[in-house]
Amino acid sequence: MSARILDGKVLSAEIKEDVIRRVNALKEKGVTPGLAVILVGDDPASEIYVRNKGKGCEETGMLSRTIRMNAGTTQEELEAEISRLNDDPSIHGILVQLPLPRHLDERAALAKILPGKDVDGFHLINAGHLLDGTEGVRPCTPKGALYMIHSTGLDLSGKEAVVIGRSNIVGKPMAMMLLQENCTVTICHSRTVNLEEHTRRADILVAAVGRAGFVTADMVKPGAVVIDVGINRVDGKVCGDVDFENVKEKAGWITPVPGGVGRMTIAMLLSNTADAAERTSERE
Ligand code: NAD
Repeated sequence: MSARILDGKVLSAEIKEDVIRRVNALKEKGVTPGLAVILVGDDPASEIYVRNKGKGCEETGMLSRTIRMNAGTTQEELEAEISRLNDDPSIHGILVQLPLPRHLDERAALAKILPGKDVDGFHLINAGHLLDGTEGVRPCTPKGALYMIHSTGLDLSGKEAVVIGRSNIVGKPMAMMLLQENCTVTICHSRTVNLEEHTRRADILVAAVGRAGFVTADMVKPGAVVIDVGINRVDGKVCGDVDFENVKEKAGWITPVPGGVGRMTIAMLLSNTADAAERTSERE
């Protein structure tokens, strides 16, 4: 039997509807949530992401500001811009589009963002909250992936979850979130030996590798929830890390690419920005 599709279009629309409702409530109190995106240089993929983020703000009634800085921007100039946005009361969320040009220090730049305005959830304070299981801003992509997993209606407690990838922005936070859901979590990475032995045990399998067609049907447990985070370009076409056509015949649930996790990431960014604006309005 073919897997059920976890449709990012439908699920992200649910989140956006909730965000619109919250934005309207904030506007009644005189607060318009504002998201600022800093884009350094002219990476074409980053341009597309930034455009989509702006579109998401427009759809949900938020203020969107894109700060374009040239590829030769210095660390001081970048950090000065972040400080200005930290102090700007009309901006509730700040996002530095990654990757930055190689001469810039990504960690130092992210550390400059006020943790409450860090809507990407990459600040060490927010990473600490995730590890600690306490309230903080959660990174958008794993948060969106978890929403998709929850939409299956499965009880996650005690399930075997396997995450392939250990990056700070996807793999590690995804593993922590699944641990918080009481899954038994395994993190696999480039040095993992006998990867298939791990993946075949997975009730929930998350692929965040960055290699087209990496997860094949023989690596998947029948009936598993398969979440494909990968975004790869092959012959001009976007595809994920999972061999979708074959894996969908074996999995119980699967996310497509495009139309899967990517849409959830933007929806969660908007949701995190609404959260940040609500926190400020509660303080006022
Ligand atoms: P990354 O390059 O930082 O991490 C890739 C991970 O894959 C590493 O931890 C590495 O150990 C692991 N890996 C590499 N080869 C492996 C192998 N042979 N076996 C097992 N593990 C292996 O990438 P990332 O930033 O985590 O992104 C992963 C993918 O997700 C990329 O395709 C990226 O474009 C995509 N992505 C999508 C979204 C979204 O919104 N959908 C957001 C962020 C990243």
